[in-house]
Amino acid sequence: MASAGLRTLVSKRCLTSLGRRELSCSSKALQKTHPAATESSDSSHDIIYGPDHMQMRDSLRKIIQKDINPFVDEWEKNKAFPAHKVFKVLGDNGLLGVNKPVEYGGLGLDYSFSAAVAEELGYINCGAVPMAIGVQTDMATPALAKFGSDKLKQEFLAPSISGDKVACLGVSEVGSGSDVASIKTRAARKGDDLIINGGKMWTTNGAQADWMCCLVNTSEGKPHMNKSLVCLPMDSSGVTVAKKIEKIGMWSSDTAQIFFEDVRVPRSHIVGEEGQGFTYQMIQFQEERLFAGLLALVPMEKMITDTIAYTRERKVFGKPILDNQTVHFTLAELQTEVELLRSALYRAIALYIKGQDVTNLASMCKLKAGRLLREASDKCLQYWGGMGFTQDVLISRMYRDMRLVSIGGGADEVMLSIICKFMDTLPKPGK
Ligand SMILES: Cc1cc2nc3c(=O)[nH]c(=O)nc-3n(C[C@H](O)[C@H](O)[C@H](O)COP(=O)(O)OP(=O)(O)OC[C@H]3O[C@@H](n4cnc5c(N)ncnc54)[C@H](O)[C@@H]3O)c2cc1C
Repeated sequence: MASAGLRTLVSKRCLTSLGRRELSCSSKALQKTHPAATESSDSSHDIIYGPDHMQMRDSLRKIIQKDINPFVDEWEKNKAFPAHKVFKVLGDNGLLGVNKPVEYGGLGLDYSFSAAVAEELGYINCGAVPMAIGVQTDMATPALAKFGSDKLKQEFLAPSISGDKVACLGVSEVGSGSDVASIKTRAARKGDDLIINGGKMWTTNGAQADWMCCLVNTSEGKPHMNKSLVCLPMDSSGVTVAKKIEKIGMWSSDTAQIFFEDVRVPRSHIVGEEGQGFTYQMIQFQEERLFAGLLALVPMEKMITDTIAYTRERKVFGKPILDNQTVHFTLAELQTEVELLRSALYRAIALYIKGQDVTNLASMCKLKAGRLLREASDKCLQYWGGMGFTQDVLISRMYRDMRLVSIGGGADEVMLSIICKFMDTLPKPGK
């Protein structure tokens, strides 16, 4: 392992995933009912993870417990978190570029190490911060790492891996979310420069980012062939962060609307080949969608195990809520679904590492993750009764935050359309 931080052996840690305030069960009781929390520290998931992955996960868990989770409640309340500070800690420990090239400060490891990081980020006690980290590692930078020039990678990738620069991804626009090909932002060529006009919507990290991986139209051609990804410095003249959007969940993540008015960037800021931006973005989406699936696993395990712990202690009609068959059977069903999702994800990762296109499987995993998160958070919250409807327990935050997974990064229906394309059941245009 290249990073000094990762070389540090971290002792196995006792996890208390419940982690939030005045719950009536002790952490001892929780540990007893929380096998998933300890399993991830050993090699029980060794289909794709070995001792090095586990060491990396332990290292990240230590950071989460020391530098992130103690502050999450405050960040959520303030509706912002200090991305530069958090990313620097992660960058110093080699965790922002585990599968990125060593020449740019990455660890040069295969995607299974990224998967290990994504999964472990699920121990953060909210959805917003892991999502912001995922934008940096798996959404705004994969195309740059794969297709960008050396100069671009030095300028934008290396500082994103070290945590010195915060990245954001500008694909969605006011009128174009699901239909990426219909974006309107345009980059006109002027000498050696591009002049960009338009705007982006829903940009995660947008208010804090130093640069944007921005999808623009660089010509009038066919919508799948006229786009380019451009590294756009956010301090360029003509960039306006118009507003931070208020949301039902993901409170500590800044989600911005951004306008571009005659923003000038060198043409050399185009990632890879001009006109290939749509294709690059579709490739980049594979990692985004795998990340979304992987990030769902631990929160769902936490929801289930926390609900077991709570309902085991809370008595209604003279017996623990958990002792009702409908309750423990429902939780067993959910745990089964989580394991099935995990299996599909690990298969997708194994194929991805072999160099296969996993668009179909990644779309299925993203679809399933979004739906299962909705089902698990809703069913678990129900068993917490009035307590589940308060801000005092993690399940209510997860219920709000995780709703996004069925919408962001391609809505469920977009995932279904992709799967239908692979099944050759999607009606062809004009038929
Ligand atoms: C908190 C948050 C953070 C985000 N972060 C980013 C970011 O960092 N960068 C970025 O580029 N974007 C980001 N997004 C945008 C996100 O990817 C889009 O919201 C998403 O792709 C959906 O686009 P839309 O909101 O325009 O919905 P629309 O495209 O208007 O779709 C609305 C709904 O229509 C339905 N629908 C769509 N297509 C079909 C179909 N073919 N058949 C049937 N029904 C359909 C779906 O249910 C969909 O939810 C973020 C969004 C949110 C809310």
